Amino acid sequence: MLGKIIYILSINLLPLMFYSSIQIDKFKTLYYKKEIIFVLYTTFFLILGYILLPREIFLIVIILDIFLWMIVFDLYYHKVQKISKEFVRHIEDLVLQKSTLQERVTKVGKQAEEYQKQLNRYNNLFRIVQEINENVELNKIIKEFYIKIVNYFGQEKISYLALVVYKKKDTINIIDYPTNRKDITSSIKNYLIEKTNFDYSETSSNLLFYDLYSNKNNYMVVIEYFKDEEICSELNFFLSETKIGFVRSILFSEVENLARIDGLTELYLRRFFISRLNEELLRAIRYNTKFSLIMLDIDFFKKINDTYGHIAGDFVLKRLAKVIKDIVADQGLCCRWGGEEFLIFIPYQSQDSVKNLSEELRQKIEVMNFIYENKIIKLTISCGISFFPEEAKDITNLIEIADKKLYQAKQSGRNKVIS
Ligand code: GH3
Ligand code: MG
Ligand code: MG
Repeated sequence: MLGKIIYILSINLLPLMFYSSIQIDKFKTLYYKKEIIFVLYTTFFLILGYILLPREIFLIVIILDIFLWMIVFDLYYHKVQKISKEFVRHIEDLVLQKSTLQERVTKVGKQAEEYQKQLNRYNNLFRIVQEINENVELNKIIKEFYIKIVNYFGQEKISYLALVVYKKKDTINIIDYPTNRKDITSSIKNYLIEKTNFDYSETSSNLLFYDLYSNKNNYMVVIEYFKDEEICSELNFFLSETKIGFVRSILFSEVENLARIDGLTELYLRRFFISRLNEELLRAIRYNTKFSLIMLDIDFFKKINDTYGHIAGDFVLKRLAKVIKDIVADQGLCCRWGGEEFLIFIPYQSQDSVKNLSEELRQKIEVMNFIYENKIIKLTISCGISFFPEEAKDITNLIEIADKKLYQAKQSGRNKVIS
């Protein structure tokens, strides 16, 4: 009797335990429940069969029961396989998701790095811009700008910088780094006069024209750079950020010029010129060089005013100043000493060449027609020259000597050069 009970239990409890173990897998709760019912059901019928059925039939029932169990096992086996496949697929999905997430994380990391780099770059740019804008004098800000952009982009990327100051076609003033780039200065003049740009398409460089500021003068920056869009946009950034510094320096230099330069003739004013002459004197003493002063006065200028009017007189003064400036050119400095008196400083040259220059000027004025409102105005000038170091060792004395010689020229008939 006990043997039979153990037999029945073992036939039915073992699979039950087996299912219990399978049940650990959370996917199969439903099957587990079904099988408990199935096992209980089989157990019940086995007990009933054992009590009620004859031994042979009971044996057949047990065999059928075993078959039934085999089928159940088979079903389970397939089910478990299916589930584990699903599970594997699920895991694979997760792995895929993980790798896409990882990819996204690295991408975001790279972006953050890129942003950080950009941020550093802009910080750097702003620092440079600030350093440029700290300069107040126009010459210094231009030089600083040139040095900074050459440092930033590299010598091979920036080859030229100019600040162009222009009023009309004939008054184009260029402050540039490096100097003596005739190709570019002529290109700038073409751009301003003809509004045509030099064709840079065949070369590896390009010119950038940037309008800075306009009042009575126009100010423009020109940069020659290695043809590259990024450089171009960064240069524009530099220029837009330093514009305020440039404009401040421009205004500063214009105010300085008001105290330095005569509005009518655009020559130096007396007070500034004297301090300039004293600097030149120190230089001449230090380097043991010579210089000359030419004092120039228009003959009978009162008559011109009386005949043609004061405005015509002003016109004559302006034209004459231009002639003097053109003849002296880069050799010296010119000053409007007084009403119609001019003082010219010529360094290094011998006494003879200064005399020749003055004579050339005198003769040129003598034959020149000053045409004002269709009227031809003729005039002559007288000059007195003093020489350093031969005649005096200080500016006051040199001016006095030149003045005396001018007086002699006037006394001895005018339209003369006395040296
Ligand atoms: P000279 O020098 O040959 O002895 O005769 P001058 O007639 O030139 O004599 P002076 O130097 O004494 O006269 C200068 C005149 O120049 C007097 C003044 O009316 C005129 N003048 C001075 N400044 C200006 C100016 O800015 N505009 C005009 N139109 N005239 C001026
Ligand atoms: Mg005079
Ligand atoms: Mg005079």
